[in-house]
Amino acid sequence: MSADIDEKNILAEFDLVIAGGGMAGSTLAWALSQANPSLTIAVIEQQAKVEPGQVNQASFDSRSIALAAASVDLLQQWHLWPTLVANACAIKHVKVSDRGHFGKVSLQQKDYAKDALGYVLEVEHLGNLLRAKLANCPQITWFAPTTISSLTPEQHWQLVQLDNGQQLRCKLLVIAEGGASASRKLAGINMTQQHYGQSAVITNLALESKHDFIAFERFTQHGPIALLPLTKQRYSLVYTTTDTHAKQLMQLSEPEFVEHMQQAFGYRAGVFSACGQRAMYPLSLGMADAIVQHRVALLGNSLHNLHPIAGQGFNLAMRDIAKLVQLLSQTDDPGSYKLLRAYEMARQEDIKQVATATDALVRLFSNQSRICALARNLGLLALLLCKPLKHPLAKHAMGYRS
Ligand SMILES: Cc1cc2nc3c(=O)[nH]c(=O)nc-3n(C[C@H](O)[C@H](O)[C@H](O)COP(=O)(O)OP(=O)(O)OC[C@H]3O[C@@H](n4cnc5c(N)ncnc54)[C@H](O)[C@@H]3O)c2cc1C
Repeated sequence: MSADIDEKNILAEFDLVIAGGGMAGSTLAWALSQANPSLTIAVIEQQAKVEPGQVNQASFDSRSIALAAASVDLLQQWHLWPTLVANACAIKHVKVSDRGHFGKVSLQQKDYAKDALGYVLEVEHLGNLLRAKLANCPQITWFAPTTISSLTPEQHWQLVQLDNGQQLRCKLLVIAEGGASASRKLAGINMTQQHYGQSAVITNLALESKHDFIAFERFTQHGPIALLPLTKQRYSLVYTTTDTHAKQLMQLSEPEFVEHMQQAFGYRAGVFSACGQRAMYPLSLGMADAIVQHRVALLGNSLHNLHPIAGQGFNLAMRDIAKLVQLLSQTDDPGSYKLLRAYEMARQEDIKQVATATDALVRLFSNQSRICALARNLGLLALLLCKPLKHPLAKHAMGYRS
């Protein structure tokens, strides 16, 4: 231990400190408690502890996410899915189209021997379940509301100073604070950001008829609109558009907004009757310059902050979590060089591929040029007509890597 750290102020030692108790950090904490009950874990969260069901929780907010089939398999493995499934809606059919052009593609679950291509879940249900489970987990200590104010790396530890004056030390610090992570910066890791000049407007839309478990993605002149089937005859809407247009959409009254969406989408998904609360998210691509550092590992949006066009962000984080859980189940030293190197090697290719493909999709489908419109429509047409092309796409969409 370094001489300038006062021994008396060290509150406790942990095998692992997880900075950020959002979707990625909380899921990791719970999955690790299942896989390795001997690990001691601290979670540092900037938001005050909230009661299950409380709205506007950071990370577990009003958004819904599409969970790929592979992520559902992991949630099963960690005993979360049997509770979540009651509030999840299966995606049995995906229809992709380009407004005003001929390209279309369609994927159906029955072609891939699966009950569903994926599921849509309102993240507050995941938040409520994780908070309840973590509260009863003796190996996990929650520090909130607080943040990390400094990090001091030592050979066998990271010394973690909290802004409330407490000090912790851990063998491994996992940073899961989302895209704007302050601890990532303290660890000396930069995130390269590219702003798309686009924002996503999200809300839930009520339908007059059944959605038949169909998800739609429609590319319009402003950007892609995704409609994901939800429980209770609703769609979750993710409307990606320019920042200016998004601000205008946020200003519309509820009937005006519903009418606007009906016009933008047409009637292929049915008649929209009402919408819920709207939220707006500015979109960018953020990639951390390193996956690991001495006794530090990055996770989730702190590592890769993607455009939601393909619904990949949390699905990618689930694969980060699965790898960390696997490695941390088999080690005596959770922050060893060997373990961190194995994590880095295992994750870098998947992250690079998904980030590159997502970015290419955003650029191709945001481009108004006629050549780009033709290219993407020929691409969609090729996928429609050619099963061998569609099969790997569906496998990737379901989150399975070869
Ligand atoms: C509109 C939209 C739609 C999306 N749809 C999908 C989808 O369909 N499928 C999919 O897979 N993904 C989707 N995503 C991505 C998904 O939401 C993210 O991948 C996920 O939220 C990442 O979780 P995270 O825990 O890494 O980060 P966050 O959700 O940002 O959570 C970070 C946590 O860290 C805490 N924190 C922040 N700073 C500090 C600090 N300094 N100290 C302590 N705590 C801190 C925060 O309070 C929060 O609890 C979507 C994203 C958006 C914006």
